[in-house]
Amino acid sequence: MSKRDYYKVLDVARTATEAEIKKAYRRLAMKFHPDRNPNDAEAEEKFKECKEAYEVLTDAQKRAIYDQHGHEGLAARGGGGYSASDAFSDIFGDVFGDIFGGGRRGGRQQVFRGADLRYDLELDLEQAVFGHSADIEFTTLTECEPCSGSGAAPGSKPVTCDTCNGAGQVRMQQGFFAVQQTCPRCKGRGQIISQPCDSCLGQGRLRQKKTLNIKVPQGVDNGDRIRLTGEGEAGRNGGPAGDLYVEIRVKEHAIFERDGSHLSCEVPVSFSTATLGGTVEVPTLGGNVELKVPGETQSGRVFRLREKGVKPVRGGATGDLFCRVVVETPVNLTEEQKELLRAFDASMHESKRNHSPRESTWLDGVKRFFDTIRS
Ligand SMILES: [Zn+2]
Ligand SMILES: [Zn+2]
Repeated sequence: MSKRDYYKVLDVARTATEAEIKKAYRRLAMKFHPDRNPNDAEAEEKFKECKEAYEVLTDAQKRAIYDQHGHEGLAARGGGGYSASDAFSDIFGDVFGDIFGGGRRGGRQQVFRGADLRYDLELDLEQAVFGHSADIEFTTLTECEPCSGSGAAPGSKPVTCDTCNGAGQVRMQQGFFAVQQTCPRCKGRGQIISQPCDSCLGQGRLRQKKTLNIKVPQGVDNGDRIRLTGEGEAGRNGGPAGDLYVEIRVKEHAIFERDGSHLSCEVPVSFSTATLGGTVEVPTLGGNVELKVPGETQSGRVFRLREKGVKPVRGGATGDLFCRVVVETPVNLTEEQKELLRAFDASMHESKRNHSPRESTWLDGVKRFFDTIRS
């Protein structure tokens, strides 16, 4: 191999920074990449030359040796020996990572990002409110270990498909129309695996069970999604893995209803407590608290317990707990208790006071209703 000056190969100054070298290399490598220049030996040679220059000039130690002693210096050190066989295998990982990072089918090389996965995680309200740690198990496509995802048996390498020259697409002439189609030979991969890996039968990926520990932050709600980057299906042809979305489902609670950061519940109160006033125990997610019920509390009245709701996962104030009082009609009365109630009712009728504010307003309303009908 002719040894051209590495700086000239990359067309950079001798004082070029690593970023400048990387940029120059990226530009040239794109230009000379074999996938863009199928069956072009000259381009391939240039590509290898660029890569060699790039590798030396981005390695501080090698660059120093090269600057002082040139190619001979590197050769003498033994570190300059460069094998061309790995020229194409690893560059997508480093320099091109951010170009083809999306993994969509933009480039000539068919790089496929793995599919995203969704996992529905069902939580109790308490787990959603206070946070939770759960092991989830799911089936996914993982990279095959023996072949590192290449699909080729260890020791062999995939070869460029000669039907499509590695493009993964072929043009078919149908009458006047030229149709672009996925290459039937390589199924769009651009490469043919002559010796398939035994473990994955050439697929590069295996369907396997995977267990992950999920940390659910406190305050999550129904429909919230936790994204676990790279935990989806493995990519193909060196493409990045997809993501795993854990979607939260919160089970219905026996007592509480949730509305964002607020909780609400019904609190049954006895007829006498509602009338005379008193305290009742009210459950909250943090334990029971006492609620003072003032005398003459009507059924349906709502009491607000501040900050006894939920601290939202996206920040903000902790919500409140709304307790709706439901006055209970007593059941299973003894004959004696019934007699007491009848006596009580009679005394209510004798009294000149208004004991039934609701009934009075209701009756007024009814009266007005009939008056408007008559007039
Ligand atoms: Zn092909
Ligand atoms: Zn394999």
